[in-house]
Amino acid sequence: DAKQASSRYMSFFNTEMEVAANHRGQVVNEMKQSIFNNEFILDYQPQLDLSTGQLIGAEALVRWKHPKRGMIAPLNFIPIAEESDLISFLGVWILEKACSEAATWPDDLYVAVNVSCAQIEKTDLLSDIKRILEETQLPPSRLEIEITESVLITDKSPVFNFLTALREMGIKIALDDFGTGYSSLSYLHDLPIDKLKIDRSFINQSDADEKSRSIIRSITHLASSLKVSTIAEGIETEDQYDLLSSLGVQYGQGYWYARPMTPESFKEFIEAKKA
Ligand code: C2E
Ligand code: MG
Ligand code: MG
Ligand code: MG
Repeated sequence: DAKQASSRYMSFFNTEMEVAANHRGQVVNEMKQSIFNNEFILDYQPQLDLSTGQLIGAEALVRWKHPKRGMIAPLNFIPIAEESDLISFLGVWILEKACSEAATWPDDLYVAVNVSCAQIEKTDLLSDIKRILEETQLPPSRLEIEITESVLITDKSPVFNFLTALREMGIKIALDDFGTGYSSLSYLHDLPIDKLKIDRSFINQSDADEKSRSIIRSITHLASSLKVSTIAEGIETEDQYDLLSSLGVQYGQGYWYARPMTPESFKEFIEAKKA
C-alpha cells in the first residue's frame, strides 16, 4: 500500500544519502592525509598573446595523484573540499606551490591561480596571499587570481572586498568561465577585474556556430568599454585561433597551443620558446 511504498522509498532514500555522506567523509579524510603525503600536484597550461604569439604566463591546474586510483581531475575533489574546511589547506598549498614555482620562471611570465568563492568566504585568504608573496619573493604583478562567478558578487560581499584589496596590491584578476555566470552590465562595471576569460563552450562552437561568434564579439566589445582585456580558454584548432584573433580577443590558451604540463615540462617549454 501507499504507506509501505513510502517507507520503502524513504529507506532507499536514506541509504542513498548515507552512502553519499560516507563517501564524502571518506574523501575528505583521504584528502587531508594526501596533502601531507604530497599527493597533489600542479600542472601548468601556457597562455599566449594571440597577436604576437608570445608566451605570457601559465594557469596552475591542480591534480590529485592518488596512489591507488591514479590521476584524479579537480572537478572530482575541489567541490568536496569546498564544502569542508579542507579547501583552506588545499587552497593555501596551491598558492604556495604556484608562487614558489613561478618565482623561478623568467620575470616577464605570470602565474594564474584559480580561487573559489568558498575559499574566500571561509578563510583569511588575503593574509595568506600577502605572506606567500613575501616568502616566495614573487612580485604581485606576476600573480593573477582567476575567480568563477558562482554567486553575484555585490559590493557588499566579502568576495568584492577581497578582489578590491588584491587589486590595490597590484595582483591581477580574471573572471573565469565568462559568459556562463550571473554578470549583468551594471554589475560588471563596478567589479574590480582586469580580464574576462571567455568560457570554453563559446570557443568550442565558434567555428560552426554564428551565435557563439556573435557572443564572443559582444564580449570583446564589452571588455573594451570596461577597459579590461580578454582571454579565450580551450582553443583547440588553428581555425579557432585565427577566428579569435580576428575577433580581437587578446590572449588565449588551449590544446592547440599547449596542454597542461608538469612544472619540468613547462620549464622546457619556456626554453624552447626562447630559442
Ligand atoms: P578552469 O579554470 O576553467 O580551467 C580550464 C580547464 O580546461 C582545465 O581543466 C584545462 O585542463 C581544460 N582545458 C584547457 N585547454 C583545453 C582545451 O583546449 N580543450 C579542452 N577540452 N579542455 C581544455 P581541469 O584542469 O580539469 O580543471 C577544471 C576546473 O577545475 C578548472 O576550470 C577550475 O575551475 C578547477 N580547478 C583547477 N585547478 C584548480 C585549483 O587549483 N583551485 C581551484 N579552486 N579550482 C581549480
Ligand atoms: Mg581557470
Ligand atoms: Mg576557465
Ligand atoms: Mg572553464
